[in-house]
Amino acid sequence: MVHDKTTLRRSLLSQRQTLTSEDWQNRSEAIVQHLKNSSIVQEAKTILAYFSIRQEPDLTSLFSLDKQWGFPLTVGNELKWYPWSIGEPLIPGEYGIPTPANQQVALVPNQVDLILIPAVGIDRLGYRLGYGGGFYDRLLSNPQWQTIPTLGIVFEFAQLPTLPVDPWDRALDGWCSENGLSFNNLVGCQC
Ligand code: ADP
Ligand code: MG
Repeated sequence: MVHDKTTLRRSLLSQRQTLTSEDWQNRSEAIVQHLKNSSIVQEAKTILAYFSIRQEPDLTSLFSLDKQWGFPLTVGNELKWYPWSIGEPLIPGEYGIPTPANQQVALVPNQVDLILIPAVGIDRLGYRLGYGGGFYDRLLSNPQWQTIPTLGIVFEFAQLPTLPVDPWDRALDGWCSENGLSFNNLVGCQC
């Protein structure tokens, strides 16, 4: 059965680390193809995403789609989002995560159509296990951000029937793995 979050995190992260580089790239490419074929991505003009670390699904080949892309920077306990396009400079941010070098004008929520969120694990209600920092829970507790459609990005082995949920955890609207997109059944989903 379900263990505590710390045990589950460790187990899911070690499964992810055992993927060979080729397997990781193939699975990542399958996720990218599903995203490219989805109406939610096709219709979005501005999408917030992430640069892969620790064998998170690699979405790089998605970023050549003609969209406004935004990537996060941690500022204290918060995430701020900056525009970036292929070819523009990146600098190492906290945790060694690449971040846009141009941090002059942050994206604001009413510009954003979709948020692609890396997940250590995700359950059938859309509850997400992250690395334990609570950054996306805090972002999505903000009324201005919580109405924006969210998709968790995971490999299929990290899609579990249920995860431990704390009162502050925010469910995502859906998720995408190498098997395709799924949406949760929670009332109020805009997808
Ligand atoms: P993750 O979602 O990254 O797996 P957790 O759900 O374990 O991490 O949350 C990590 C921490 O983030 C918790 O200690 C929690 O107190 C804090 N947190 C989450 N959401 C909020 C919020 N809306 N306001 C303040 N702290 C929050
Ligand atoms: Mg959480």
